[in-house]
Amino acid sequence: MGSNGALTFDVEKNPNAVPATEREALLQNPGFGKVFTDHMVTIRYSENTGWHGWKIEPRRPLALDPATLVFHYALEIFEGMKAYRLPDGGATLFRPDANARRFRNSAERLGMAQMPEDLFVESCRALVRFDRDWIPSSEGASLYLRPFMIGSEVALGMKPSSEFIFCAIASPVASYFKGGASALTLWASENFTRAAPGGTGAAKCGGNYAASLAAQAEGLREGCDQVVFLDAVERRWVEELGGMNIFFVFDDGSLQTPPLTGTILPGITRDSLITLGRDMGLTVREEPYGMDQWQKDAESGRLREAFACGTAAVVAPIGKVKGRQHSFTIGDGNAGLIAGRLKAALTDIQFGRAPDQHSWLDRLF
Ligand SMILES: *Cc1c(COP(=O)(O)O)cnc(C)c1O
Repeated sequence: MGSNGALTFDVEKNPNAVPATEREALLQNPGFGKVFTDHMVTIRYSENTGWHGWKIEPRRPLALDPATLVFHYALEIFEGMKAYRLPDGGATLFRPDANARRFRNSAERLGMAQMPEDLFVESCRALVRFDRDWIPSSEGASLYLRPFMIGSEVALGMKPSSEFIFCAIASPVASYFKGGASALTLWASENFTRAAPGGTGAAKCGGNYAASLAAQAEGLREGCDQVVFLDAVERRWVEELGGMNIFFVFDDGSLQTPPLTGTILPGITRDSLITLGRDMGLTVREEPYGMDQWQKDAESGRLREAFACGTAAVVAPIGKVKGRQHSFTIGDGNAGLIAGRLKAALTDIQFGRAPDQHSWLDRLF
């Protein structure tokens, strides 16, 4: 039994944990989201007992009745965060309180139970501490955490679930895009939108991803890497990628990113880069940016760079944009200077190479 103030959890050690030599071999080249640690955290919720049954247990299949709500009505939300190895051998999370808050907001939007923020953060801390040997120490690598929650009531009636399962798993990851520096080619989706006003665009839910995959498939057929979505009302304003926010860099050195008006996921990377950009003395605007303007500015040279950002990929430069009505290259089509500086500033803090001036780190050991 472990304990953290009022919170206590049961521990069941994995008797079949991966042997150290095998683990070290896996950590050499983990890819993204394919290798997993030995344990997971689970917590149950029911209307009658509240949050209960907090456990660290061997990572294993969840046994669910086929009539469980999640299978039928996509009652699922998730988070994505990383644990970073520090130069002294310790480890840290990055702004886990922000993930906890967003998790609550996502739950609220989907009518799910809202997990107390300290329970969410303590669960993530406990998992990383327990599986600490899985945090890679190679350059740019980290331990990706995937906390998620499903509606687990067994019922086909369409109503909010009275039971939930929270689970957190962990996966050592190298950098998200192979080759690192090569710039993305985006497909500007004109057939499909990701989120509409009043919808779930600002909630981190699996359903948003399911709804974006046809557009992603279309983009891949067109030879692109990722999709950039436009607003659902005017099909004019650039919103974000399927799983990353977007920034533009202009010739006067200013940065711009679309505002959070409810259809865009409030990225923690986005928020951190706004702060770091301002720390660097750059002007950062949260203002809408039109697709036609984007092409015009890319062609005139007023736009110098564009990049996507998120926890998994950190900062991913955008080189080209294609669509039925658009086709243009940004700058020389390669990774830009400001994107590189912002990525370095952020990862230097995350990996403990630069001072943590905004108190973003949550040191684990
Ligand atoms: C998770 C996510 C992001 C990025 O959020 P971070 O907190 O920076 O990882 C952006 N857009 C969507 C749709 C997402 O799901």
